[in-house]
Amino acid sequence: MSVRVRFAPSPTGYLHIGSLRTALYNYLFAKHHGGVCILRIEDTDRTRFVEGAIEEQIESLRWAGVVFDEGPHVGGNYGPYVQSERFPLYREYGMKLVASGHAYYAFDTAEELDAMRQRQQNAGIAPKYDRATMRNQYTVGEAETQRLLAEQAPHVIRLKVPLTAEIRFHDEVRGDVVMHGREIDDQILLKSDGFPTYHLANVVDDHLMEITHVIRAEEWLPSTPKHVLLYEAFGWKPPVFAHLPLLLNPDRSKMSKRHGDVMVHDFRGKGYFPDALVNFVAFCGWNPGTEQEMFTLEELCSAFTLERVAKAGAVFDYKKLDWMNGEYLRKKDVAELTSALLPALQERRYPYIEPDYVSSVISLLRERVAFLHDITEFGDYLFGDVLQDVEGSALADLRADDAFVTALRAWRDTVTDEDLADHDRFKGLAEGAAAAGGLKLGKFMKPLRLVITHRDVGADLFPTLKLIGKRRCIERIDSFLS
Ligand code: GLU
Repeated sequence: MSVRVRFAPSPTGYLHIGSLRTALYNYLFAKHHGGVCILRIEDTDRTRFVEGAIEEQIESLRWAGVVFDEGPHVGGNYGPYVQSERFPLYREYGMKLVASGHAYYAFDTAEELDAMRQRQQNAGIAPKYDRATMRNQYTVGEAETQRLLAEQAPHVIRLKVPLTAEIRFHDEVRGDVVMHGREIDDQILLKSDGFPTYHLANVVDDHLMEITHVIRAEEWLPSTPKHVLLYEAFGWKPPVFAHLPLLLNPDRSKMSKRHGDVMVHDFRGKGYFPDALVNFVAFCGWNPGTEQEMFTLEELCSAFTLERVAKAGAVFDYKKLDWMNGEYLRKKDVAELTSALLPALQERRYPYIEPDYVSSVISLLRERVAFLHDITEFGDYLFGDVLQDVEGSALADLRADDAFVTALRAWRDTVTDEDLADHDRFKGLAEGAAAAGGLKLGKFMKPLRLVITHRDVGADLFPTLKLIGKRRCIERIDSFLS
């Protein structure tokens, strides 16, 4: 049997980083097995629908490289299946369960349900639909049910949970799960407006779309016994379930909006590379069992198995993500990085941004930063002549330091283009200049960097000054001395 999985987001907002992980694991699992991964939009809850969310989620997935195989809306990309376009189908299946006695009509009003919950709360018991006392097909009887239906009394369809049953299923990540019927609510399947709930539409679609493995977030684990009951009621074989561990903040709280930016869109905006983010997210709850940490999407596809998905919550380590982004920055093709950086440099109206030169700057500075766009700011002294302000009195102190000024003048007066092109000559020049001021080499080089770049730190001084070039070095020294 070939593998068929689905990613089934609800369009209630932008794509959450945890949803990217769910989508990614489904995609990797499908590709690993040569199977199919489909996209299904679960928009049964119209009250939570957010305009533009579907488009944004698909775009974020595409950016990350997660694409789908199948769906009715063919375009550059496939998909998605959209549940709101299939409502009559769910109604039809819901009514089949009424006919077979696995579901029933319930006529309770909102006030009656509120009163029931209040009674339960007062009695200190968990809220759950009380089939025996409420107004439904069983308590009002068949004739009254028909009369109420004929006069179009508002009603819902509820799942008739077998109260004495033990519901068992196996989860590929969590192991065997057992729940008792009396713990499970008589879930609403069709709402009073005739629309299906998530549970009904989800199970009907997973069956009709021949889904073999349901891989989804742990928050859906409590719903799974209801789904298992639905499969039994329909007489269908349930898919294999795998519930993915929670994503946690570094303080082990659940990763949510309240803790800052958790949307894929935010990560993209901050300048993370899609392949770095995907590589990192793949490791949030899974590991390959080897030391290898850097994986392309193709490598992830071949390495990914559900057996290596962890049960325990996965801490989202932002520092590690930044480190990984930096690793990708150092590995990527410089020409590509140059094209990506140029618009930002142009926007700043930097004068020295000829592409070959920008490529050299990127090659030099990418060892030192985690994001490509950091180079825009970090390399201001390479791209332009306006240097940042130096805090405090550091420059004034240097100007008053006779030994340093003597050494600096010696360097300025003797430097040639050849000295900046050859490392040995560069070193010889610096040693000679330092000696002229009676300074040790280190006592000369650090301040020299500060004078020419207005920074304490940066890449090695030789390649840095080589890029700045003799003319600009001398201009900066002169402006320092004057
Ligand atoms: N629509 C559900 C969600 O938003 C999908 C749950 C499932 O995969 O079954 O996460």
